[in-house]
Amino acid sequence: MADARINQPGDAIVVGAGWAGLSTAFHLSRQGFAVTVLEQTRQSGGRTFSFADRRSGEPLDNGEHVLLGLCGHFQQLLKAADLGSAVRFQQLLHVPVVAASADSSLGSHKLPGSLHLAGSVLRYKPLLPLERIKVLQTGLAVQMCSSADTFDDVSFADWLKDHRQSANAISVFWEAIGSGLLNAKADKVSAALALKTFRMLLSEGWNGARLGLFVRPLSEITHGFQSYLESRGVRFHFGCAVDTIEVQNSQGLSVSGPEGRWTANSVILTLPPDRLAKLVEKSGMTSTIAVPKFEFSPILNVYLFYDSKVLAQDFFLLPDDLGAMVFNRSRLLGAAKAESTTLAVSISAADDLREMPMQDISAMVEKMVRRRLRLPKAQQSRSVWQAHATFLARPGSERLRPGNRTAVDGLYLAGDWTSTGWPACLEGAVLSGHNAARETALRSERRRLRTANET
Ligand SMILES: Cc1cc2nc3c(=O)[nH]c(=O)nc-3n(C[C@H](O)[C@H](O)[C@H](O)COP(=O)(O)OP(=O)(O)OC[C@H]3O[C@@H](n4cnc5c(N)ncnc54)[C@H](O)[C@@H]3O)c2cc1C
Repeated sequence: MADARINQPGDAIVVGAGWAGLSTAFHLSRQGFAVTVLEQTRQSGGRTFSFADRRSGEPLDNGEHVLLGLCGHFQQLLKAADLGSAVRFQQLLHVPVVAASADSSLGSHKLPGSLHLAGSVLRYKPLLPLERIKVLQTGLAVQMCSSADTFDDVSFADWLKDHRQSANAISVFWEAIGSGLLNAKADKVSAALALKTFRMLLSEGWNGARLGLFVRPLSEITHGFQSYLESRGVRFHFGCAVDTIEVQNSQGLSVSGPEGRWTANSVILTLPPDRLAKLVEKSGMTSTIAVPKFEFSPILNVYLFYDSKVLAQDFFLLPDDLGAMVFNRSRLLGAAKAESTTLAVSISAADDLREMPMQDISAMVEKMVRRRLRLPKAQQSRSVWQAHATFLARPGSERLRPGNRTAVDGLYLAGDWTSTGWPACLEGAVLSGHNAARETALRSERRRLRTANET
């Protein structure tokens, strides 16, 4: 068993190389820390990764990811590593919508504050005219709601019903937008989290609401970012599953697993809650670190392959068809084979499909997209099911999300499920890493001052 001792002052170990871990490493290394990242798999990226399609060799992602203009922390990381062009932002939000009632769109105008969406809501055809007015009124109530956290025990669906939203408005507007942002249906998600999320979307104005579409495979981006960190001295160890953490008194903290043992002044754990709970239990720390028992919410992506060009647009929202988003991957990634098309159909909060055999799901989704977008039959399909895509933010969960500090000196938490004010997403993961790095640096500075005063 290797015993790597890294004991210079300011040293830190980051466990997990998802975007929370990468962000922690980025911010710590910027502040002069010597950082070591331990990751159990063979690559960085965590829940963002790509793989080669067996048939075509084409790189596919574990799921289409999108950003919003207001995801500033994630964009900061990409820019620092010269990867900004990996995400193409719209000039203004524009989401083409294909619904049973009529084709329509949702989008922004360059108007102040939350007015940017108002015109589009007034013309949004899946809503009846009176429903459009009520959606605008409720949008105002969302914006005015300065105490969102008091609604943590209420589901977003109940909150919307209390604000006179019809079942149709909940389905084709609030859920059509919200299930992608929150990865949960309105009846299963905390109103506190939903209100905070919609409030950000409305009040940050048109610039914040612009969609950012990934134009490079996810693994290319994470590996590019990892290389950038390595060039700044961050060390990565892959295939290292950490299963125990121990307090070493004067030496700091040590983490260990079958691959070895590492010691440092600070340790930042950036694991999903179920993995963290196991680590805490094995380390005998259950009375010190409380890890909430969150459920997970799945996301399904079905890739559809065509031998011809079948779509001229980048993406569509299908509010009546499981709230699916259809991405034209060939256009987005500028595919070499211009005469073929790969579509990615992304279904968030896909709980209702959990029991269905994968083959049936692919056939059902292919048929649904063919009928709704009037496409030819796809030649091939491939489903990617991510059962643990994000934690499920049920009513009552907001107050259970922990901050970055723990009761153990020098031990910090980060991850998309910690308390960030965001739903589980890339921006939340990266923000949590930023905050954990700040806490680590503050403690280090306090220790330095104490030592200076003592001498
Ligand atoms: C299909 C899908 C679609 C999504 N779409 C979007 C989207 O459109 N927009 C968006 O913003 N977000 C989206 N998300 C969510 C986003 O991907 C996650 O919120 C984010 O990647 C989480 O990052 P993280 O670092 O917190 O966790 P993770 O990525 O899970 O990182 C944790 C890391 O810790 C490692 N690890 C676990 N246990 C150990 C151990 N014992 N020792 C060492 N290492 C360990 C894991 O291998 C992993 O690499 C999507 C997620 C999925 C799955």
